[in-house]
Amino acid sequence: MGSISSEKPHAVCIPYPAQGHVNPMLKLAKILHHKGFHITFVNTEFNHKRLLKSRGPNALNGFPDFQFKAIPDGLPPSDVDATQDIPSLCESTTTHCLGPFRDLLKKLNDTSSSQVPPVSCIVSDGVMSFTLEAAKEIGVPEIFFWTTSACGFLGYMNYAKLIEKGLTPLKDASYLTNGYLEQALDWIPGMKNIRLRDLPSFLRTTNPDDYMIKFVLQETERTRKPKAIILNTFEELEADVIKALSDILPPIYTIGPLQFLLKQVDDKNLSVLGSNLWKEEPECLDWLNSKEPHSVVYVNFGSITVMTPDQLVEFAWGLANSKQTFLWIIRPDLVSGESAILPKEFLEETKDRGLMASWCPQEQVLNHPAVGGFLTHSGWNSTIESIGNGVPVICWPFFAEQQTNCWFCCTQWGIGMEIDNNVKRDEVENLVTELMVGEKGKDMRKNVLELKNKAEEAAKSSGGSSYSNLEKVIQVLLSN
Ligand code: UDP
Repeated sequence: MGSISSEKPHAVCIPYPAQGHVNPMLKLAKILHHKGFHITFVNTEFNHKRLLKSRGPNALNGFPDFQFKAIPDGLPPSDVDATQDIPSLCESTTTHCLGPFRDLLKKLNDTSSSQVPPVSCIVSDGVMSFTLEAAKEIGVPEIFFWTTSACGFLGYMNYAKLIEKGLTPLKDASYLTNGYLEQALDWIPGMKNIRLRDLPSFLRTTNPDDYMIKFVLQETERTRKPKAIILNTFEELEADVIKALSDILPPIYTIGPLQFLLKQVDDKNLSVLGSNLWKEEPECLDWLNSKEPHSVVYVNFGSITVMTPDQLVEFAWGLANSKQTFLWIIRPDLVSGESAILPKEFLEETKDRGLMASWCPQEQVLNHPAVGGFLTHSGWNSTIESIGNGVPVICWPFFAEQQTNCWFCCTQWGIGMEIDNNVKRDEVENLVTELMVGEKGKDMRKNVLELKNKAEEAAKSSGGSSYSNLEKVIQVLLSN
């Protein structure tokens, strides 16, 4: 083994293979690279192929000390450019990925054929816990990156208790609509009076063998095993929840918003490495350049949300009737089972003040001065990116911990308003108007700007909580 290779630490970073997990893991990998780590970033073959398509054939060439590798996800091969079915993907990664991951580590550590330093630590997505076994086998420390909010994480951590108390699975389907989910719970520390319906959505099942419940139980149980857990949030945003998590888990380090830490170490070379699985349409930014400050509502439901054709039409007329200017990102697979068809009259009426695109560089959009509000599905990345850019939100949570993020935005942080799941055009119109030109909108903007300032403080090298936590994380990764 050469002396250079034995000196440099080598982190293998493996995200869960969905957009909202790959993005923050890539940011973290870039930060670690800046801190002197050799990086191997592990995608699934399916995502690897999609990244080559969306970003061009050289997108994953990497650098001598930042390389990309791919392993199969275990699902049947597919060329479809769409988000994979989440329960199937969870089951498949759990069942099939350990073998290929183990083989990859073996190859990386084979000094006769490998040019890279031996693997010295693993940074795994919290829901790719099969990696623990591989880390143990090769005797390196592993930390989990749980990419959701702390509040969402705490929601999942309470699933075992929800089952124990008989609150889930639901007795029958009527419990979804009979007011049962409205009950407030007083026993979860850090989120007093949260309603059942605000907890991560997988509890909304009547099936005692539901795979997502099993998966949540399995993955949360294993969160007790890594050396540390990191979260893309900041202490000042979720203090009570973080305290509650710290009482039951290995050391928790909040290092968010990651985009702030990344900005500090921004390395021109690495900025070519991106993770968008759809091709970005940067023309959105040119269009925004022609708009007044805070005059545009940005509408985007992330990478997984799907809606019915009727819901799409309600959103469309709500936006049109609000008379506000909007940028609406309609992913090609946003409407379930068919392509999105918008009414001709809507297109005609909004042609001078609406732009539609299929995917955008979201962080640049949120950072644009023209954007005054965000109609979002409340995915955690979207939420923390919005907070980091001081943009208030309207929440239409779809699934997973998005409901919990929505509750925190609307009731704890004062930066959001919720749209009913059964979306109607009048409500969209009213909330969008309130967000952009109403008193409540003003209050929310003030609150979110305060949070943005706190986030900036957290990232400061002079004692910011996220910054100093990152230093601690690095020490854990370097220890053995
Ligand atoms: N994103 C983007 N362009 C788009 C839509 C989404 O760059 O048009 C990015 C967004 O910035 C975020 C991620 O995709 O980092 C979506 O993650 P999130 O947790 O918000 O939602 P999910 O897609 O997991 O539901």
